[in-house]
Amino acid sequence: MTPMFKRPGPPPLPPSSYCTKCGAVVKNIEVGLTKKMINRGITEYMCLNCLSEFTGLSEEELLKKAEQFKRMGCILFN
Ligand SMILES: [Zn+2]
Repeated sequence: MTPMFKRPGPPPLPPSSYCTKCGAVVKNIEVGLTKKMINRGITEYMCLNCLSEFTGLSEEELLKKAEQFKRMGCILFN
């Protein structure tokens, strides 16, 4: 069967998937961390770099925290 239309590419990312500070693409883990570190209801996210600046924690510490949250079964890190 031949499709009548060209297969569309991946859908564009919603605006919330870009860092509000530097415009970098924000990964799931960074979305989760932004929520955890700043506000669960937040709809604008930061990349690890900017989050590190914002919180004063190193990127390594933030990733460690993400791992902890994940182990605790936090749904934000699924
Ligand atoms: Zn950023």
